[in-house]
Amino acid sequence: MLEFEEALARVLAAVPAPTSESVSLNDAPGRVLAEPIRSPLDLPIFDNSSMDGYAVRAADVASATPAAPVRLRLAGKVAAGQVFPGEVTAGTCVRLFTGSPLPPGANAVVMQEDTRVDSNATSEVLILTQAQPSENIRSCGEDVKHGTPLAEAGEVVSVGRIGLLAAAGLARVQVGRQPVVGLLATGSELTEPGHPLGPGRIYESNRATLAALIGRAGAVPIVLPLVADVLAETSLALADAFSQSDAVVTSGGVSVGEMDFLKRAFEQIGGSLEFWKVAIKPGRPFVFGRLQGKLLFGLPGNPVSALVTFLLLVRPALLRWQGATDVSLPAHPGVLAEPLANLGERRHFIRVKVDATGKVRSTGIQASHVLSSVAAANGLVDVPADTTLAEGSAVTVLRWEY
Ligand code: AMP
Ligand code: MG
Repeated sequence: MLEFEEALARVLAAVPAPTSESVSLNDAPGRVLAEPIRSPLDLPIFDNSSMDGYAVRAADVASATPAAPVRLRLAGKVAAGQVFPGEVTAGTCVRLFTGSPLPPGANAVVMQEDTRVDSNATSEVLILTQAQPSENIRSCGEDVKHGTPLAEAGEVVSVGRIGLLAAAGLARVQVGRQPVVGLLATGSELTEPGHPLGPGRIYESNRATLAALIGRAGAVPIVLPLVADVLAETSLALADAFSQSDAVVTSGGVSVGEMDFLKRAFEQIGGSLEFWKVAIKPGRPFVFGRLQGKLLFGLPGNPVSALVTFLLLVRPALLRWQGATDVSLPAHPGVLAEPLANLGERRHFIRVKVDATGKVRSTGIQASHVLSSVAAANGLVDVPADTTLAEGSAVTVLRWEY
C-alpha cells in the first residue's frame, strides 16, 4: 500500500509533457498559460481624467475658493476617445469626461462639481477650488508599466486576470492542451437517472460528479455508457474509452471481490498496472495504470471515495497535463469549531464546511457512501491516523467548492 505522497508523485511522473495551443481570450479562463506574458503597453496607455470636469494648470487655480472663484476661458471639449488638438495655456481650461486624454499643458482636473458656468458667459468656467498637480488624473503606466509581467507560464488564467490581458490588447494566448478524459462507471446495479429502478438497483451518481470535476480541472470529459460487472464487457468498454481519449477515469470494480473486473480487464487490453492501493480514507483501492502513453485512473465505486481520490490524485494529474505549476487543492487556514476525530489507522480526509469566519465543522456522517455530507461540504481536512484534533485547533482546509 502506497503513502498518498508517493502515489501522487508516481502519478505526476507519468503525466505526459504538456503541449500548447492558441485560444481566444474568451476561451482562456480556466486554461493554463503556456508562456509568460509581458505587457506590450503602459496601462493606463496615456494620462487621462478620472472625472467629468475641466483640465487646468494647477498654478492658475491656486487661489480659487467658492467665495472668490477663478475665471478660466473654455478652450474646447474632449470626449473619451478624442484628442485635444492644442495645448492648455495659462488662463484656459478644457472640458473633459471620465477617460478623456489629458491635453498637453494641463496638470490637474477640477471636477465638475467644483465649477460653475454662467449661462450668459458660456465660454468661461468659474473654478471654485484649488487643485493639486495630478489631481483627478490617472497617469500613464501607474497600473502596469510596459514590459512588466502580466501573467506567468503555468498559471491558470483567472477571471480576474482576463481583463488585464484584454486591456493590454491581447486577443489570443498560448495555453496547455486539454486532456480528453473518458469517463466510465462500472456496476451491474447501476441505472441511469431518469429511468425506472428495478429491484436491487440504484441510480448511478459518480459520472455526474466526476464529469463536473474533470471540466473544472480544465480537461474535457466524455461521459460513456454504464458497464456491467462482466469481464469481457469491461475490457471492451475500456478499449473503446481509450480509443477516444488521453486518459480514462473509471469508478467501481477495483476492490477485491470476484465481481471486480477492472484490473483484469485493463491488463487484458494491454495496460500495465502501476499500483492499486493508497493508504488514505476514503479511497484505499485506487488503480493507476498506463497504456501506450495514456493513463488509467480506476476510482473506487463508493461515491465519496470516488470524489476524494479524484480530488487528491486525478485533478493534479489533469492540471499538470496542461502545464499547471500548482496542482494541489487551494489550502485555507481554519479553526475547528468542534473536535475532529479519526479513529482509524489510515489518514482520513474528512469532509468539512469552513464558514466565512474560518470556523470549520464536520458535515456529518463520514462513511464513504454518504452523499449528504458531501453536498454540505466545501473542503477536506487531512486528519492523521488515530488522531483527534481538539476544538480550537488550527487546521488546513483543502477547498474544493466556493
Ligand atoms: P465497488 O467499488 O464497485 O465495489 O462499489 C462500491 C459501492 O459503491 C457499492 O455500494 C456500489 O453500489 C456503489 N457504487 C459503485 N459505483 C457507483 C456509481 N457510479 N454510482 C453510485 N454508486 C456506485
Ligand atoms: Mg461494483
